[in-house]
Amino acid sequence: MRTLDDLDVEGKRVLVRVDFNVPLDQSRPPRITDDSRIRGALPTLKELREKGAARLVLLAHLGRPKDREPEFSLKPAAERLSELLGVEVALAANFDDVPESEVVMLENVRYEPGETKNDPELAKRYAALADVYVNDAFGAAHRAHASTEAVAHLLPAAAGRLLEREVKTLTGILEDPKRPLVAVVGGAKVTDKLGVLDAFLERADSVLIGGAMCFPFFSAQGHDVGDSLCEAEGVDPARHTLEGGGDKLRLPEDLVAGREFSEDTEVRELDGVDVPDGWMGLDIGRGSSEAYASVITEAGTVFWNGPMGAFELEPFAAGTRRVAEAMAECEGTTVVGGGDSAAALAEFGLADRVDHLSTGGGASLELIEGKPLPGVEALS
Ligand code: ADP
Ligand code: MG
Repeated sequence: MRTLDDLDVEGKRVLVRVDFNVPLDQSRPPRITDDSRIRGALPTLKELREKGAARLVLLAHLGRPKDREPEFSLKPAAERLSELLGVEVALAANFDDVPESEVVMLENVRYEPGETKNDPELAKRYAALADVYVNDAFGAAHRAHASTEAVAHLLPAAAGRLLEREVKTLTGILEDPKRPLVAVVGGAKVTDKLGVLDAFLERADSVLIGGAMCFPFFSAQGHDVGDSLCEAEGVDPARHTLEGGGDKLRLPEDLVAGREFSEDTEVRELDGVDVPDGWMGLDIGRGSSEAYASVITEAGTVFWNGPMGAFELEPFAAGTRRVAEAMAECEGTTVVGGGDSAAALAEFGLADRVDHLSTGGGASLELIEGKPLPGVEALS
């Protein structure tokens, strides 16, 4: 993979694909609730300017617009970037109207129907705006789109610092981890994460399961799951994983259950993992979180994706909090992937206590599964 070290940018117009797909609130105009993706691109943008780039032309997407819907405008992102970079960032509504300013951002690339089709004609129009191309949008690197893939073949191309760091950190975990290597996998999107689980069962020393991820496993073992969130399509793969997983795979030994998914519901600590009818398992229990915490603290490398429970609800946050604290205490390399896991860390005030917080949920999972990322492949 070529990086900024391999690209001459002095006096050049640089097309930079960034990941500014930030969460916005409902106010008018919308406000950005978490700008870490914009901050994540700053090292690359600053380096390009310091190295004498003539101008920066930024490409980014926001959400999944069907049309040129104004609520998907990049205006809030352009304004926030102006503040962070200390220079005016002009927003160009379309190709015919790109201002000559030092830093310009094109409107949401997904306003263009060809973007998600990896349309070569659209890629040519992007390429015509610059002399060289830099991709720093790790969060979009698992998609072969015109602004992430096709355009990279039309100009001298390289990875930005954020994308470079994401790829090096995540592949480093798999290829040459300090041991013991521990994976902690939780959250709700079980079937999305089975591939990652298999990848870690091959390479890791321990794989700790939490969140709603554990219920297909418990179901496969014949436990009662009550009204817990348990993806039916996950049960057969879970059974298969249990058969092959050996003693690396660890499941909770106790749970915290609630009557319903709400803050003020009736709460019960379960001694085992059988969830009675009318109850749902919403967190791992105290015994499990202490056991997981000690494995995590002693690890050489930890990868964590997915909260241990419904951490948004205070009665069910303890398991996730304990895991987050153990990540912070661990002296090994600690890496967190997944939007909700990152949000949990931030909520507990521990975001800066881990070594790497991945900005790309889907992209980081696909990379760990060993799938080639089209946006990365196009840079080598
Ligand atoms: P990430 O974004 O870190 O990859 P996911 O999106 O897979 O994580 O899952 C996060 C969601 O999982 C949270 O909203 C949390 O409430 C939910 N969750 C975790 N454990 C449970 C559970 N036992 N039952 C229901 N929802 C759960
Ligand atoms: Mg999520």
